Amino acid sequence: MKFFYTLLFVLISTTLVAQDTYLHCGKLIDTKTGKTLTERTVVVSGNRITKVEIGYTEGESGDVIIDLKDKTVMPGLIDMHVHMESESNPKAYLERYTNNNADVAYNSVGFAKATLMAGFTTVRDLGGSGVNISLKKAIAQEKIIGPRIFTAGKIISSTGGHGDPTNGSKKSIIGDPGPKDGVINGEEDAKKAVRQRYKNGADLIKITATGGVLSVAKSGSNPQFTLEEIKAICKTAKDYGFHVAAHAHGDEGMQRAVNGGVKTIEHGTLMSTKTMDLMKKKRAYLVPTITAGKEVTEKAKIEGYYPEVIVPKALEIGPQIQDTFKKAHKRGVRIAFGTDAGVFKHGQNAKEFGYMVEAGMRPITAIQCATIVNAKVLNMSKELGQIAPDFLADIVAVNDDPTEEIKTMENVIFVMKEGKIYKQ
Ligand SMILES: [Zn+2]
Repeated sequence: MKFFYTLLFVLISTTLVAQDTYLHCGKLIDTKTGKTLTERTVVVSGNRITKVEIGYTEGESGDVIIDLKDKTVMPGLIDMHVHMESESNPKAYLERYTNNNADVAYNSVGFAKATLMAGFTTVRDLGGSGVNISLKKAIAQEKIIGPRIFTAGKIISSTGGHGDPTNGSKKSIIGDPGPKDGVINGEEDAKKAVRQRYKNGADLIKITATGGVLSVAKSGSNPQFTLEEIKAICKTAKDYGFHVAAHAHGDEGMQRAVNGGVKTIEHGTLMSTKTMDLMKKKRAYLVPTITAGKEVTEKAKIEGYYPEVIVPKALEIGPQIQDTFKKAHKRGVRIAFGTDAGVFKHGQNAKEFGYMVEAGMRPITAIQCATIVNAKVLNMSKELGQIAPDFLADIVAVNDDPTEEIKTMENVIFVMKEGKIYKQ
Protein backbone atom coordinates (compact mmCIF):
# COMPACT_ATOMS: atom_id res chain seq x y z
CA MET A 1 0.00 0.00 0.00
CA LYS A 2 2.78 2.37 0.91
CA PHE A 3 4.35 1.64 -2.47
CA PHE A 4 1.06 2.48 -4.18
CA TYR A 5 0.85 5.92 -2.52
CA THR A 6 4.45 6.64 -3.38
CA LEU A 7 3.76 5.75 -7.00
CA LEU A 8 0.64 7.93 -7.04
CA PHE A 9 2.59 10.85 -5.61
CA VAL A 10 5.32 10.45 -8.23
CA LEU A 11 2.75 10.31 -11.02
CA ILE A 12 0.92 13.43 -9.82
CA SER A 13 4.08 15.43 -9.25
CA THR A 14 5.51 14.58 -12.67
CA THR A 15 2.21 15.62 -14.27
CA LEU A 16 2.41 18.94 -12.45
CA VAL A 17 5.94 19.73 -13.58
CA ALA A 18 5.51 18.41 -17.13
CA GLN A 19 6.55 21.33 -19.32
CA ASP A 20 5.60 22.09 -22.88
CA THR A 21 7.98 23.91 -25.18
CA TYR A 22 6.73 26.82 -27.28
CA LEU A 23 8.89 27.60 -30.29
CA HIS A 24 8.31 31.08 -31.67
CA CYS A 25 9.23 30.75 -35.34
CA GLY A 26 9.72 33.85 -37.52
CA LYS A 27 9.60 31.67 -40.61
CA LEU A 28 8.42 28.08 -40.73
CA ILE A 29 8.87 25.85 -43.77
CA ASP A 30 5.80 23.75 -44.48
CA THR A 31 7.37 20.80 -46.31
CA LYS A 32 3.98 19.47 -47.36
CA THR A 33 2.97 22.52 -49.39
CA GLY A 34 6.44 23.92 -50.02
CA LYS A 35 5.34 27.26 -48.57
CA THR A 36 7.16 29.37 -46.00
CA LEU A 37 4.79 30.45 -43.24
CA THR A 38 5.50 33.45 -41.01
CA GLU A 39 5.02 34.03 -37.28
CA ARG A 40 4.03 30.59 -36.05
CA THR A 41 4.25 28.89 -32.67
CA VAL A 42 5.12 25.21 -32.59
CA VAL A 43 4.09 23.51 -29.36
CA VAL A 44 6.06 20.47 -28.27
CA SER A 45 4.93 18.16 -25.52
CA GLY A 46 7.20 15.27 -24.60
CA ASN A 47 8.68 13.90 -27.83
CA ARG A 48 5.84 15.05 -30.12
CA ILE A 49 4.55 18.19 -31.76
CA THR A 50 1.07 18.90 -30.43
CA LYS A 51 0.09 22.18 -32.07
CA VAL A 52 1.15 24.67 -34.71
CA GLU A 53 -0.50 28.00 -33.96
CA ILE A 54 -0.75 31.26 -35.88
CA GLY A 55 1.14 34.11 -34.20
CA TYR A 56 3.23 33.90 -31.05
CA THR A 57 1.36 32.17 -28.26
CA GLU A 58 2.39 31.25 -24.75
CA GLY A 59 1.36 28.37 -22.53
CA GLU A 60 1.11 28.30 -18.78
CA SER A 61 3.78 29.40 -16.37
CA GLY A 62 6.45 26.74 -16.30
CA ASP A 63 6.30 26.17 -20.06
CA VAL A 64 9.47 26.97 -21.94
CA ILE A 65 9.57 29.56 -24.71
CA ILE A 66 12.27 29.41 -27.37
CA ASP A 67 12.77 32.55 -29.41
CA LEU A 68 13.42 31.75 -33.07
CA LYS A 69 11.66 34.88 -34.35
CA ASP A 70 14.54 35.88 -36.61
CA LYS A 71 15.25 32.33 -37.81
CA THR A 72 13.85 29.92 -40.38
CA VAL A 73 12.54 26.73 -38.82
CA MET A 74 12.01 23.39 -40.55
CA PRO A 75 11.71 19.68 -39.76
CA GLY A 76 14.87 17.79 -38.76
CA LEU A 77 16.87 16.86 -41.85
CA ILE A 78 17.18 13.29 -43.10
CA ASP A 79 20.18 11.89 -45.00
CA MET A 80 19.51 8.69 -46.96
CA HIS A 81 23.14 7.72 -47.40
CA VAL A 82 25.76 7.86 -44.68
CA HIS A 83 28.37 5.51 -43.23
CA MET A 84 28.39 6.17 -39.49
CA GLU A 85 31.33 3.84 -38.82
CA SER A 86 34.01 5.52 -40.86
CA GLU A 87 35.41 8.78 -42.20
CA SER A 88 37.77 9.26 -45.11
CA ASN A 89 41.43 9.75 -44.19
CA PRO A 90 44.74 8.82 -45.84
CA LYS A 91 45.20 5.89 -43.44
CA ALA A 92 41.69 4.46 -43.94
CA TYR A 93 42.85 1.45 -45.95
CA LEU A 94 45.47 0.50 -43.38
CA GLU A 95 42.98 0.93 -40.54
CA ARG A 96 40.89 -1.93 -41.91
CA TYR A 97 43.65 -4.21 -40.70
CA THR A 98 44.57 -2.40 -37.50
CA ASN A 99 41.24 -1.26 -36.01
CA ASN A 100 39.18 -3.49 -33.76
CA ASN A 101 35.42 -3.15 -33.50
CA ALA A 102 35.87 -1.17 -30.30
CA ASP A 103 38.04 1.37 -32.16
CA VAL A 104 35.37 1.66 -34.83
CA ALA A 105 32.71 2.12 -32.16
CA TYR A 106 34.57 4.90 -30.34
CA ASN A 107 35.18 6.72 -33.63
CA SER A 108 31.53 6.48 -34.58
CA VAL A 109 30.47 8.30 -31.40
CA GLY A 110 32.04 11.52 -32.70
CA PHE A 111 30.66 11.03 -36.19
CA ALA A 112 27.15 10.58 -34.81
CA LYS A 113 27.40 13.75 -32.74
CA ALA A 114 28.72 15.81 -35.67
CA THR A 115 25.82 14.59 -37.82
CA LEU A 116 23.16 15.54 -35.28
CA MET A 117 24.72 18.96 -34.63
CA ALA A 118 24.56 19.67 -38.38
CA GLY A 119 20.77 19.33 -38.17
CA PHE A 120 20.45 15.77 -39.42
CA THR A 121 18.14 14.14 -36.91
CA THR A 122 17.65 10.94 -38.95
CA VAL A 123 20.02 9.03 -41.22
CA ARG A 124 20.00 5.86 -43.24
CA ASP A 125 23.29 4.09 -42.65
CA LEU A 126 24.24 2.22 -45.81
CA GLY A 127 26.81 -0.17 -44.56
CA GLY A 128 29.59 -0.94 -42.15
CA SER A 129 30.89 -3.85 -40.12
CA GLY A 130 27.83 -4.30 -37.91
CA VAL A 131 28.95 -1.80 -35.26
CA ASN A 132 26.36 0.48 -36.89
CA ILE A 133 23.59 -1.69 -35.40
CA SER A 134 25.02 -1.25 -31.89
CA LEU A 135 25.44 2.49 -32.54
CA LYS A 136 21.80 2.77 -33.54
CA LYS A 137 20.77 1.08 -30.28
CA ALA A 138 23.07 3.19 -28.11
CA ILE A 139 21.59 6.40 -29.59
CA ALA A 140 18.01 5.14 -29.27
CA GLN A 141 18.70 4.36 -25.60
CA GLU A 142 20.24 7.85 -25.16
CA LYS A 143 23.59 6.46 -24.01
CA ILE A 144 25.24 8.70 -26.60
CA ILE A 145 23.91 11.50 -28.79
CA GLY A 146 23.35 11.21 -32.51
CA PRO A 147 20.71 10.98 -35.19
CA ARG A 148 18.00 8.32 -35.31
CA ILE A 149 19.53 5.56 -37.43
CA PHE A 150 18.00 3.16 -39.91
CA THR A 151 20.83 0.82 -40.79
CA ALA A 152 21.67 -1.79 -43.40
CA GLY A 153 24.24 -3.44 -41.11
CA LYS A 154 26.68 -5.13 -43.44
CA ILE A 155 26.39 -4.55 -47.20
CA ILE A 156 25.51 -7.48 -49.48
CA SER A 157 27.92 -7.99 -52.38
CA SER A 158 29.15 -10.79 -54.64
CA THR A 159 32.62 -12.36 -54.62
CA GLY A 160 35.15 -9.65 -55.47
CA GLY A 161 32.31 -7.16 -55.62
CA HIS A 162 32.34 -3.61 -54.26
CA GLY A 163 31.38 -4.70 -50.75
CA ASP A 164 33.46 -7.90 -50.46
CA PRO A 165 35.26 -7.25 -47.16
CA THR A 166 38.52 -8.97 -48.20
CA ASN A 167 38.99 -7.25 -51.57
CA GLY A 168 42.61 -6.36 -52.21
CA SER A 169 43.94 -8.45 -49.32
CA LYS A 170 46.80 -10.98 -49.56
CA LYS A 171 45.96 -14.64 -50.03
CA SER A 172 46.36 -15.70 -46.42
CA ILE A 173 43.57 -13.37 -45.28
CA ILE A 174 41.43 -13.24 -48.41
CA GLY A 175 39.52 -16.40 -47.42
CA ASP A 176 36.12 -17.14 -48.85
CA PRO A 177 33.57 -14.87 -47.16
CA GLY A 178 29.94 -15.96 -47.48
CA PRO A 179 26.40 -14.66 -46.89
CA LYS A 180 27.07 -13.92 -43.21
CA ASP A 181 29.88 -11.54 -44.19
CA GLY A 182 27.77 -10.09 -46.97
CA VAL A 183 29.10 -12.05 -49.92
CA ILE A 184 26.59 -14.04 -51.98
CA ASN A 185 26.69 -16.11 -55.13
CA GLY A 186 23.33 -17.46 -56.25
CA GLU A 187 19.76 -17.15 -55.06
CA GLU A 188 20.06 -19.38 -51.97
CA ASP A 189 22.94 -17.28 -50.65
CA ALA A 190 20.88 -14.18 -51.40
CA LYS A 191 18.01 -15.34 -49.21
CA LYS A 192 20.36 -16.38 -46.42
CA ALA A 193 22.17 -13.04 -46.40
CA VAL A 194 18.89 -11.11 -46.06
CA ARG A 195 17.68 -13.36 -43.25
CA GLN A 196 21.02 -13.04 -41.48
CA ARG A 197 20.62 -9.25 -41.52
CA TYR A 198 17.15 -9.57 -40.04
CA LYS A 199 18.64 -11.70 -37.29
CA ASN A 200 21.45 -9.19 -36.70
CA GLY A 201 19.00 -6.32 -36.25
CA ALA A 202 19.31 -4.39 -39.52
CA ASP A 203 16.42 -2.22 -40.75
CA LEU A 204 16.93 -2.46 -44.50
CA ILE A 205 19.18 -4.04 -47.13
CA LYS A 206 22.01 -2.46 -49.11
CA ILE A 207 23.50 -4.17 -52.15
CA THR A 208 26.38 -3.20 -54.40
CA ALA A 209 24.83 -3.66 -57.83
CA THR A 210 27.99 -2.51 -59.63
CA GLY A 211 31.65 -1.90 -58.98
CA GLY A 212 32.53 1.12 -56.90
CA VAL A 213 35.16 3.82 -56.66
CA LEU A 214 36.64 3.15 -53.24
CA SER A 215 37.03 -0.64 -53.32
CA VAL A 216 40.43 -2.12 -54.10
CA ALA A 217 39.24 -3.60 -57.41
CA LYS A 218 39.59 -2.74 -61.07
CA SER A 219 36.14 -1.70 -62.29
CA GLY A 220 34.01 1.03 -60.82
CA SER A 221 30.96 0.25 -62.89
CA ASN A 222 30.63 -3.42 -63.95
CA PRO A 223 27.41 -5.30 -63.04
CA GLN A 224 28.07 -7.57 -60.04
CA PHE A 225 24.80 -9.48 -59.54
CA THR A 226 22.55 -11.41 -61.87
CA LEU A 227 18.97 -10.22 -62.18
CA GLU A 228 17.87 -13.43 -60.45
CA GLU A 229 20.11 -12.75 -57.46
CA ILE A 230 18.73 -9.22 -57.09
CA LYS A 231 15.17 -10.50 -57.38
CA ALA A 232 15.85 -13.10 -54.67
CA ILE A 233 17.24 -10.38 -52.37
CA CYS A 234 14.33 -8.00 -52.95
CA LYS A 235 11.69 -10.72 -52.60
CA THR A 236 13.15 -12.00 -49.33
CA ALA A 237 13.64 -8.44 -48.05
CA LYS A 238 9.94 -7.79 -48.57
CA ASP A 239 9.07 -10.72 -46.27
CA TYR A 240 10.89 -8.92 -43.47
CA GLY A 241 9.55 -5.43 -44.17
CA PHE A 242 12.91 -4.26 -45.53
CA HIS A 243 13.40 -2.03 -48.53
CA VAL A 244 16.53 -2.43 -50.67
CA ALA A 245 19.06 0.26 -51.57
CA ALA A 246 21.48 -0.39 -54.42
CA HIS A 247 24.87 1.22 -54.89
CA ALA A 248 25.28 1.62 -58.68
CA HIS A 249 27.52 3.56 -61.06
CA GLY A 250 27.20 1.48 -64.25
CA ASP A 251 24.01 1.47 -66.33
CA GLU A 252 23.56 -2.28 -66.82
CA GLY A 253 23.80 -3.09 -63.10
CA MET A 254 21.49 -0.18 -62.36
CA GLN A 255 18.84 -1.49 -64.77
CA ARG A 256 19.01 -4.95 -63.21
CA ALA A 257 18.64 -3.41 -59.75
CA VAL A 258 15.57 -1.39 -60.72
CA ASN A 259 14.01 -4.34 -62.55
CA GLY A 260 14.83 -6.56 -59.58
CA GLY A 261 12.82 -4.36 -57.23
CA VAL A 262 15.19 -2.02 -55.37
CA LYS A 263 13.72 1.18 -53.98
CA THR A 264 16.70 3.52 -54.21
CA ILE A 265 19.64 3.79 -56.59
CA GLU A 266 22.68 5.29 -54.87
CA HIS A 267 24.95 7.58 -56.97
CA GLY A 268 23.46 6.55 -60.36
CA THR A 269 26.51 7.99 -62.12
CA LEU A 270 26.32 6.53 -65.64
CA MET A 271 22.53 6.35 -65.80
CA SER A 272 21.09 6.32 -69.34
CA THR A 273 17.84 8.05 -70.25
CA LYS A 274 16.35 4.58 -70.72
CA THR A 275 17.14 3.76 -67.08
CA MET A 276 15.79 7.13 -65.96
CA ASP A 277 12.47 6.27 -67.60
CA LEU A 278 12.56 2.82 -66.01
CA MET A 279 13.13 4.44 -62.59
CA LYS A 280 10.06 6.63 -63.15
CA LYS A 281 7.97 3.64 -64.17
CA LYS A 282 9.06 1.57 -61.17
CA ARG A 283 8.82 4.53 -58.77
CA ALA A 284 12.43 4.12 -57.70
CA TYR A 285 14.39 7.01 -56.19
CA LEU A 286 17.81 8.37 -57.11
CA VAL A 287 20.01 9.26 -54.13
CA PRO A 288 22.58 11.53 -55.79
CA THR A 289 25.52 11.82 -53.29
CA ILE A 290 27.00 14.73 -55.27
CA THR A 291 29.14 15.77 -52.29
CA ALA A 292 30.91 12.39 -52.31
CA GLY A 293 31.53 12.68 -56.05
CA LYS A 294 33.18 16.08 -55.61
CA GLU A 295 35.19 14.88 -52.61
CA VAL A 296 36.69 11.75 -54.22
CA THR A 297 37.66 13.82 -57.28
CA GLU A 298 39.58 16.26 -55.06
CA LYS A 299 41.17 13.57 -52.87
CA ALA A 300 42.30 11.53 -55.90
CA LYS A 301 44.50 14.47 -56.90
CA ILE A 302 46.45 14.19 -53.62
CA GLU A 303 49.30 11.74 -54.15
CA GLY A 304 49.07 8.66 -51.95
CA TYR A 305 45.67 9.51 -50.45
CA TYR A 306 43.99 6.52 -52.11
CA PRO A 307 45.51 3.19 -53.23
CA GLU A 308 46.64 3.43 -56.88
CA VAL A 309 43.83 1.31 -58.32
CA ILE A 310 41.26 3.79 -57.00
CA VAL A 311 42.66 7.00 -58.49
CA PRO A 312 41.54 6.53 -62.15
CA LYS A 313 38.09 5.36 -61.00
CA ALA A 314 37.67 8.40 -58.76
CA LEU A 315 38.72 10.77 -61.53
CA GLU A 316 36.36 9.16 -64.03
CA ILE A 317 33.24 8.71 -61.90
CA GLY A 318 33.46 11.49 -59.31
CA PRO A 319 33.01 14.48 -61.63
CA GLN A 320 29.98 12.97 -63.43
CA ILE A 321 27.58 12.57 -60.53
CA GLN A 322 26.27 16.14 -60.41
CA ASP A 323 25.59 16.17 -64.13
CA THR A 324 23.64 12.90 -63.97
CA PHE A 325 21.60 14.29 -61.09
CA LYS A 326 20.81 17.36 -63.19
CA LYS A 327 19.58 15.23 -66.11
CA ALA A 328 17.62 12.81 -63.95
CA HIS A 329 15.90 15.61 -62.05
CA LYS A 330 15.02 17.39 -65.28
CA ARG A 331 13.56 14.16 -66.66
CA GLY A 332 11.33 13.73 -63.62
CA VAL A 333 13.12 10.94 -61.74
CA ARG A 334 12.18 10.91 -58.03
CA ILE A 335 15.05 12.29 -55.96
CA ALA A 336 15.79 11.46 -52.32
CA PHE A 337 18.41 13.49 -50.45
CA GLY A 338 21.60 11.56 -49.63
CA THR A 339 25.27 12.43 -49.39
CA ASP A 340 27.51 9.40 -48.64
CA ALA A 341 28.92 11.17 -45.56
CA GLY A 342 31.87 9.17 -44.31
CA VAL A 343 33.39 9.37 -47.78
CA PHE A 344 33.83 12.98 -46.62
CA LYS A 345 33.67 14.55 -43.15
CA HIS A 346 30.59 13.81 -41.08
CA GLY A 347 28.61 16.94 -40.31
CA GLN A 348 29.16 18.46 -43.76
CA ASN A 349 26.06 16.74 -45.14
CA ALA A 350 24.31 20.04 -45.90
CA LYS A 351 26.82 20.90 -48.64
CA GLU A 352 24.65 18.66 -50.82
CA PHE A 353 21.86 21.28 -50.81
CA GLY A 354 24.12 23.79 -52.53
CA TYR A 355 25.18 21.26 -55.16
CA MET A 356 21.57 20.27 -55.87
CA VAL A 357 20.54 23.91 -56.29
CA GLU A 358 23.61 24.60 -58.44
CA ALA A 359 22.41 21.79 -60.73
CA GLY A 360 19.01 23.37 -61.18
CA MET A 361 16.82 22.15 -58.34
CA ARG A 362 14.71 24.72 -56.50
CA PRO A 363 15.89 25.24 -52.90
CA ILE A 364 12.49 24.32 -51.45
CA THR A 365 12.45 21.10 -53.50
CA ALA A 366 15.90 20.16 -52.16
CA ILE A 367 14.62 20.74 -48.60
CA GLN A 368 11.55 18.64 -49.35
CA CYS A 369 13.86 15.85 -50.60
CA ALA A 370 15.67 15.90 -47.25
CA THR A 371 12.45 15.87 -45.20
CA ILE A 372 9.07 14.77 -46.51
CA VAL A 373 10.42 12.66 -49.41
CA ASN A 374 13.00 10.83 -47.30
CA ALA A 375 10.40 10.17 -44.59
CA LYS A 376 8.33 8.44 -47.27
CA VAL A 377 11.27 6.31 -48.43
CA LEU A 378 11.76 5.22 -44.81
CA ASN A 379 8.06 4.44 -44.45
CA MET A 380 7.88 7.08 -41.70
CA SER A 381 5.55 9.57 -43.41
CA LYS A 382 3.29 9.89 -40.38
CA GLU A 383 6.08 10.67 -37.93
CA LEU A 384 8.97 12.34 -39.73
CA GLY A 385 9.56 15.05 -42.32
CA GLN A 386 6.90 17.59 -41.29
CA ILE A 387 6.20 20.06 -38.52
CA ALA A 388 2.60 19.17 -37.76
CA PRO A 389 0.56 17.79 -34.84
CA ASP A 390 1.43 14.18 -33.84
CA PHE A 391 4.74 14.20 -35.66
CA LEU A 392 7.94 13.48 -33.72
CA ALA A 393 9.45 16.76 -32.51
CA ASP A 394 12.52 16.82 -34.76
CA ILE A 395 13.02 20.51 -35.47
CA VAL A 396 15.96 22.56 -36.73
CA ALA A 397 16.56 26.23 -37.50
CA VAL A 398 18.92 28.29 -39.63
CA ASN A 399 19.79 32.00 -39.60
CA ASP A 400 18.64 32.98 -43.09
CA ASP A 401 15.84 31.96 -45.41
CA PRO A 402 17.26 28.97 -47.34
CA THR A 403 14.85 29.55 -50.22
CA GLU A 404 16.85 32.75 -50.82
CA GLU A 405 20.27 31.65 -49.54
CA ILE A 406 20.75 27.87 -49.63
CA LYS A 407 24.24 28.04 -48.04
CA THR A 408 22.58 28.84 -44.72
CA MET A 409 21.71 25.14 -44.49
CA GLU A 410 25.39 24.52 -43.70
CA ASN A 411 25.02 26.48 -40.47
CA VAL A 412 22.19 24.96 -38.44
CA ILE A 413 21.91 26.89 -35.18
CA PHE A 414 19.12 25.01 -33.40
CA VAL A 415 18.57 21.26 -33.15
CA MET A 416 15.74 19.46 -31.39
CA LYS A 417 15.28 15.71 -31.65
CA GLU A 418 12.21 14.06 -30.15
CA GLY A 419 11.51 17.14 -28.06
CA LYS A 420 14.99 17.35 -26.58
CA ILE A 421 17.20 20.32 -27.45
CA TYR A 422 20.75 19.43 -28.48
CA LYS A 423 21.90 22.73 -29.93
CA GLN A 424 20.73 26.25 -29.25
ZN1 LIG B 1 28.19 4.77 -49.59
